[in-house]
Amino acid sequence: MVKRNVESEALYREVARLLVDRGNCVALTGAGVSAESGIPTFRTQGGLWEKYDPMEFASIEAFRKDPSKYWSLRGEFIKDSDLYQPNNAHIALAELEQMGIVRCVITQNIDGLHKKAGSKNVIEIHGNLMEIYCLACGKEYKAPYVPEGMPPHCLCGGILKPNTVLFGEELPVDVFMKAKETSATCRIMLLVGTSAIVHPAASLPYLAKENRAKIIEINIEKAFPEADYSIMEKAGTALPKIVDEINKFSHE
Ligand SMILES: [Zn+2]
Repeated sequence: MVKRNVESEALYREVARLLVDRGNCVALTGAGVSAESGIPTFRTQGGLWEKYDPMEFASIEAFRKDPSKYWSLRGEFIKDSDLYQPNNAHIALAELEQMGIVRCVITQNIDGLHKKAGSKNVIEIHGNLMEIYCLACGKEYKAPYVPEGMPPHCLCGGILKPNTVLFGEELPVDVFMKAKETSATCRIMLLVGTSAIVHPAASLPYLAKENRAKIIEINIEKAFPEADYSIMEKAGTALPKIVDEINKFSHE
């Protein structure tokens, strides 16, 4: 007989109840959510930055010197972007937004998968790799449609650059201000697939806590010591369970 984990079922139910009662939830997502879509991660063991020096391949200084180096590393991923699809975690967050529970997704991920999953209010604090623009005229291109060439050029002849924050670049002030305001006014913050220790995103849960928001952490390992609830599970497993629990309430 399969032993059922009663305690964790109760935990899912409690978290679902909290989300329904409080609403006004902001989700802060990180690499763990992308990893479940097969997106190569960077900082983890075996990640891209173990093989490639980010300062040489993905810093703004290197990009200015020779953009082809950056494009040689990232171009294929951009052109193959259709291979990567939103997973159950992205989809559940979009559903929670539709239910009026999640007000905003703040993400450290640059793959654009939250928008692809249907989330409307998304703050991409590190930008979006799939939005590519011309440094000369500002014309925008959308992945996977990027002109040929290494580096690719705009029709006007300008160099193309993805709309992401490279190493050595400041975050856009207005975007991060919006992330701070959103965090400071929420009643619940969901930390999903992020250890929330990398700055500047690391400050956001504390802004939420100052507003007496409850912090719900969904991560394969406990990473945020001050979380009110910790669900040690993959986001693509845990978030749909929470949505199911919420749907049960409306049928009770
Ligand atoms: Zn141009």
